[in-house]
Amino acid sequence: MDEKLIVEDTLGDWRRTHYSSEISHSVVNSEVIVIGWISSKRDHGNVLFALLRDRYGDIQLVVKKKELPKELFDSLRNLKEHSSIAVKGIVVEQKNENGSFEIIPKEIKILSISNKPAPFLTQAVSSIGIDTRLDLRAIDLRRDYLQIIFRIRRNILKSIRNYFDQNHFVEVNTPKMIATATEGGAALFPIFYYDREAFLAQSPQLYKEQLTMAFESVYEIAPIFRAEPSRTNRHLSEAISVDAEKAYVNYDDAMDILENLIKHVVDSIKHHNLTDLKELELDLPEISGPFPRLAYSDLVSKLQENHKYIRWGDDISPKILRDMFGDEFYFITDWPASTKPFYVKSKLDKSDQKPHGENDERILSESFDLMFGTLELSSGSTRINNKVELMEQMKNKGLNLEAFDYHLRIFDYAVPPHAGFGLGLERLIMALLKLENIRDATFYPRDIDRLAP
Ligand code: ATP
Ligand code: MG
Repeated sequence: MDEKLIVEDTLGDWRRTHYSSEISHSVVNSEVIVIGWISSKRDHGNVLFALLRDRYGDIQLVVKKKELPKELFDSLRNLKEHSSIAVKGIVVEQKNENGSFEIIPKEIKILSISNKPAPFLTQAVSSIGIDTRLDLRAIDLRRDYLQIIFRIRRNILKSIRNYFDQNHFVEVNTPKMIATATEGGAALFPIFYYDREAFLAQSPQLYKEQLTMAFESVYEIAPIFRAEPSRTNRHLSEAISVDAEKAYVNYDDAMDILENLIKHVVDSIKHHNLTDLKELELDLPEISGPFPRLAYSDLVSKLQENHKYIRWGDDISPKILRDMFGDEFYFITDWPASTKPFYVKSKLDKSDQKPHGENDERILSESFDLMFGTLELSSGSTRINNKVELMEQMKNKGLNLEAFDYHLRIFDYAVPPHAGFGLGLERLIMALLKLENIRDATFYPRDIDRLAP
């Protein structure tokens, strides 16, 4: 049959009376309207079995040739998967199977017709490359696997907001178009702002710090933009950051807040997404007791003992941590000040673990990274709240003080001591759901090669 003969209908006054999940004993023999898209079809000549999918699952339609006008039956037979239809019909209990129901349609409206066979349907598609999937992301997102990931993501966000709310944090929004870099010039996206150059914010850092003056405890869940030059499975050019900042606390307290946040989120998923976890055949990380807190200097010594090539003062790469940490949460604390941004508070190394013959005092910082295995999830610290100290650090890092005047002037009015962290939402999802690629933790990933869709 010529596809052009299939015609689209309008919704008219039809509205869904039930979701697929609501088709149960209580509606057997009743007339219902279900609406969704065709996720699969089996043609038995005189009978057509189709699965209609909505956001809660599938319901089977049993379409008999003799019970529908011939044209409509033929149209349905030719309809490709993903097409949207609305069905008015009677609910019956399936014969051979217990507890399943199906719908015998009386009237059908074809609402939207798919022109092309989709390159993938609802099932796992290990053979299809991620680029093919991302090119058709909205269709990809209809797949079971991603539906589960994003169902869990929804609950993660809900539980994060719930946690901050219970702990008296105020949700804020800070500007994403900004005048100067937060951490120096690297990795910024320049934009036109009227007749001036501006940048996309790589973090809400300075604004959230300022807001502790007015609101004490603040948090923000928003995009950060970073022109990451490399192609990795854990970097996006646009990621969602969960940022928190609190007055009158230091980095130890910030670690407590972050640790409790993670525990709250894990508990909440365990509670609300049991079925999803089962479908993914996934166990969430077992958390017993407090997250270990390892000082940077001790960890570096340990790595050196294990014959890893690392010098004190180096950043710690995921590669070097391999075979040392499994799927567990832990903090690396007290990083060398030189590895951290200018707003991080310094502290003197009081330990006597300096290598033999080294007399210089090592400058550490009141800072931490939260790790999961080899993956960095978050960085946080006590922040500098003294203006002179802050200016000193900016100079040390080669920043132009004038460009930060809008920030520094606030420090004339007694910024309280404060601490906080930034937690990558997609990184957290990757860790909890054991995703290989960060791109599957976001709707429309952005990276060096991809700006569309
Ligand atoms: P990395 O060393 O992994 O590149 P970072 O130390 O540069 O990260 P921070 O500036 O500490 O990142 O940002 C805080 C958190 O934000 C990180 O721990 C991470 O979870 C998340 N994050 C930072 N950059 C990215 C990115 N490009 N893509 C996804 N998440 C990111
Ligand atoms: Mg970091």
